[in-house]
Amino acid sequence: MWGALKCNFCGDCLVKCLYVNYDKDRAVAEIKALMEGKQAEILSQCVTCCACREYCPTGADPYDLILKAQERYGAFPIPAEAVAAFDLGAQIPSELIPGDPDKPILSLCIMERLIPEDTLDSQLFKGMTIVKGGDYFCYIGYVHVGRESPIEKNARKFIDKMASLDKEIVFIHDDCYAMVHAKVNDYGITVPFKYMHIFEYLRNYLRDHRSGVTRLNRKVAYQRPCASRYTSEKDVFLDEIFELIGVERMRRKYDRETALCCTGPLINVNRERAVSLQAKNIDDAIASGAHALVTLCPMCDRVLRRPTSERGFSKIFITDLCRMALGEKSFPA
Ligand code: SF4
Ligand code: SF4
Repeated sequence: MWGALKCNFCGDCLVKCLYVNYDKDRAVAEIKALMEGKQAEILSQCVTCCACREYCPTGADPYDLILKAQERYGAFPIPAEAVAAFDLGAQIPSELIPGDPDKPILSLCIMERLIPEDTLDSQLFKGMTIVKGGDYFCYIGYVHVGRESPIEKNARKFIDKMASLDKEIVFIHDDCYAMVHAKVNDYGITVPFKYMHIFEYLRNYLRDHRSGVTRLNRKVAYQRPCASRYTSEKDVFLDEIFELIGVERMRRKYDRETALCCTGPLINVNRERAVSLQAKNIDDAIASGAHALVTLCPMCDRVLRRPTSERGFSKIFITDLCRMALGEKSFPA
């Protein structure tokens, strides 16, 4: 939540923004304008990557300020049909597939059609209860269409639904984890259930099944999702996963704090700009010497399918990468 009293007008948020070229004076002028309730250029230039939230050294959460102003002014020019697609997410039929009561629940949110279709066949998830569909939709994705109010409106409903499962929950979607671990704090909601990010779950599984792991001895580039800007502390688990399965995360320009958005939202607003950003991102991954791009967010995975395939560059969803180390799949040639 935006905290005006925490802002010291350092300008870091918008100086570091990878999608504008502001110096400190310009960055501070933009923030001051927004604080005064005025329009500012950043509202239309912003690609909704949430990174300024992470760049801010004082925890003032400038992206919350930007997001609310984008909604107030309709400044993120996304077509109504793209917003409607989010609204339809809540209407995706829901299902609870019961599993072993001693295992945690795996939540797919509304992402089932975007993850590799045989994901649930893996030993990784054997016997887990699965929940999926609109009843388990976390809503935080609205940050990517310049809307904050649907998140706040539905936050309590989402938390209550997950709490009603009365079990520990593993979130496969980075967005869900960002919602329960960070965003609901903005609304004064306490999360009354135990939960875990998919990274931590995978790290635990691989660590507990070391004898079944074959080190891959491969180099990969990582596509960090925008939702991770809310929960950077859990990223250490990814490095542990890579270590366990013998994968080297290549240093590159667009990773960690300087990761680029996959352009999932932007493609609906400015296709040319989005394609150009995709090219910068994938070319950077290839130049790093990686054998493949590893994704965490199912939406990133979908959006980057074409630009990676056009370059003959492999792309691997994180659960598939772990399955390769477990002998369930082969690393792409
Ligand atoms: S959300 Fe991303 S694109 Fe928008 S102002 Fe912040 S850093 Fe820049
Ligand atoms: S919001 Fe944070 S990063 Fe931006 S000017 Fe204020 S203190 Fe600095």
